[in-house]
Amino acid sequence: MIIASDLDRTLMYSKRALNELGHSSETKLKPVEMKDGNWVGYMTETAFSDLKKLSRESLFIPVTTRTTEQYKRFVIFENEVPLTYAITSNGANILYKGKPLKEWSEKLFFKMAHETLGLDEFLSTLLNEGYYFDGQLKKVDKLFFYFILNCLPSSYELSDIRELASSKGWRLSLQGRKLYFIPKLISKGNALRFICEREGMEALAGAGDSVLDWDFLKNCRYPFVPKHGELKEHVDASLFTLTNKLGIAAGEEILKKMRASLLMKT
Ligand SMILES: [Mg+2]
Repeated sequence: MIIASDLDRTLMYSKRALNELGHSSETKLKPVEMKDGNWVGYMTETAFSDLKKLSRESLFIPVTTRTTEQYKRFVIFENEVPLTYAITSNGANILYKGKPLKEWSEKLFFKMAHETLGLDEFLSTLLNEGYYFDGQLKKVDKLFFYFILNCLPSSYELSDIRELASSKGWRLSLQGRKLYFIPKLISKGNALRFICEREGMEALAGAGDSVLDWDFLKNCRYPFVPKHGELKEHVDASLFTLTNKLGIAAGEEILKKMRASLLMKT
């Protein structure tokens, strides 16, 4: 059985996310992400132990919007929690035994070149329409981009931008201070479906906090969403299970629920 999960703000929490979403001072934290020699991302110790068990009990697949390089900062996946697959760059790349699966990315890039407005053209369209983003622009593998914003747009502005993006074959997702713009063809759901077919397995359970996660969550038999996730504002609440807890404790709750789903599978 396949169990798939987003990482940031679903299972893993940066210091910023810990401060913003809160956590009990009694919680024991396990550092899981290293950047420039410093620990910057955490799970609870219980969550980490459950993740290790889950990776032995199922085909566990991380599904992240991070680039492969950023994903590799989660050093636990090198030795402590070895995995067969990972989906990175929001579905643009699939890693199989640590190496990019070319049969997936070549097909996707060919399709994108023919069917979607490219990154630079789309960005120019946004700017020509008069949208200004106060923050740092980051381009990801020439595929998509995001702004790290100093101040957030109003929900009114966001819905206007969302509409414009959609008419051009793109969409957006606001995650903390990061506002992502991603072509609709680059989808976590398409990548996970490809792995399910390749392995002849069903996606039993999944978890994610952002609208980008719904692409794969909607195909999981048991979809879980952390209570703080932006996703709950955009999808009918009857279609997924919301956690009772917030922040890093929600990550722990999700892993427990995922392991329990393995027992309910028949
Ligand atoms: Mg996330």
